[in-house]
Amino acid sequence: MKKPQYCVFGAGIIGLCVARRLRQAGVSVCVIDPRDLGQGATGASAGLLEPPMKPRSPFQLARHASFEGYSQFVEDLNRESQYEIEFQHLPHVHLALTDEEVDKFKRWESAAGSEEQSAFWLEAQEATERWRQLSSQVKGAWVHDRGAWVYPPDLLWALKTVLEDQDVPLYLQIQNLEIEPKTDGQVQLRFLNSSQSEIQFDSVIPILCAGAWTPAILKQLDLFPEFEIQAIRGQMVELQADFQIEAIFHLENRYLYFREGNRLLIGATTEEAGFDENIYSAETDSLLDTASKAFSIDSFSVLNTWCGLRPKVLRRGGAWLRTEFPILLAGHYKNGILGGPRDADLLVSKLTGNPLESFSPFKE
Ligand SMILES: Cc1cc2nc3c(=O)[nH]c(=O)nc-3n(C[C@H](O)[C@H](O)[C@H](O)COP(=O)(O)OP(=O)(O)OC[C@H]3O[C@@H](n4cnc5c(N)ncnc54)[C@H](O)[C@@H]3O)c2cc1C
Repeated sequence: MKKPQYCVFGAGIIGLCVARRLRQAGVSVCVIDPRDLGQGATGASAGLLEPPMKPRSPFQLARHASFEGYSQFVEDLNRESQYEIEFQHLPHVHLALTDEEVDKFKRWESAAGSEEQSAFWLEAQEATERWRQLSSQVKGAWVHDRGAWVYPPDLLWALKTVLEDQDVPLYLQIQNLEIEPKTDGQVQLRFLNSSQSEIQFDSVIPILCAGAWTPAILKQLDLFPEFEIQAIRGQMVELQADFQIEAIFHLENRYLYFREGNRLLIGATTEEAGFDENIYSAETDSLLDTASKAFSIDSFSVLNTWCGLRPKVLRRGGAWLRTEFPILLAGHYKNGILGGPRDADLLVSKLTGNPLESFSPFKE
């Protein structure tokens, strides 16, 4: 194996996208992760893709560009991996339960203006005519027609396949990772691979894409807490329903969507529980409560529950993107599935000097 120039820490969507682009740019790279594929936020994620309405700030424009390029991104990955990623265009429906929410969504409607064809308000009766399973508590719905859904484990699997086909070493379930900083932004790495063989790289450039675990690596590099990232738990529950709706629903900072076989998934966005991967029945109950507020069904059977740790950058919004030691792309608290692939292109374009325009489809 050729000695890697870069070592990507983290086999979530961000790390794997960075490694794919570096390899495509002809750079030698490896990926390391102490866990198995999909054990971070990416594997837990809902995979909902909603572009910002009327994007203005650079961040919103970037997320808008990510959405615009997503179908092509999935197509490229399907072709490169010979795998079929589950991906669907679906409307996002924001349900109003209170008069305040009705007012808020109506304000959104007037702000969107009459030229905005993709977003519109439905009164309660129109909404229930469209989706007859909506509960009687729903006072109306703000519909954003431009949305999509992707199955994150498929993305990970396709990216892993592409990297393996390109002979990029992917060290999963590594143990005893030792990092020793050297000069010029390089580090010496030593770890045991999944077969317990010792691997050593005397000098590689680390790229930290370890999501909520990034601070632990920074600490090993004596850099904590300069680039502080906090873990924010998000729990999800999967239920067996007796109907299915082709839309993604949002309600009180929760989201609800269906997968084949009438499986209803509900997730929380903002659990401020810190670094905690336990499943709590109180949180499951609260997600079930959200389901019964959204839909008129009496009983659900719970099929599965899980949670993931979202990486959140403290004291400032957005994610860290740094092109000098410590090179970082981490802190995608929300929208990492949507924006991560394009952010990875941006980082690699800066590292390799290739313009972002050379990376189809995430162009500037
Ligand atoms: C429940 C939930 C629902 C979500 N829903 C959505 C959604 O609908 N749409 C959306 O766009 N985003 C969503 N997100 C956010 C999205 O999942 C994240 O933004 C994205 O997955 C972050 O990717 P990542 O690669 O940075 O992190 P991760 O996927 O967490 O990957 C980081 C990796 O680093 C590894 N690691 C840990 N320690 C080390 C180490 N010492 N060395 C090397 N590697 C290490 C971890 O094992 C992990 O595999 C959701 C998140 C959660 C938790």
